[in-house]
Amino acid sequence: MLDQAVKGSSPVVAARRGSPEFRQCCDSYVCPVCSQVVELTDYRQVLWHQQPGHQPMDADD
Ligand SMILES: [Zn+2]
Repeated sequence: MLDQAVKGSSPVVAARRGSPEFRQCCDSYVCPVCSQVVELTDYRQVLWHQQPGHQPMDADD
């Protein structure tokens, strides 16, 4: 039983912990200018990536 539960939840966990490119469903997208993942929930990132010719933003700041 435990083994089935693990198998059922494992793919979901793996997808959520995967690389950002797989998380562009609803709240993020890959910027065509700098190829960085932009979180739509963070307006600072959204505004930054709307600038023409910008550089990648430091995600940790
Ligand atoms: Zn960008």
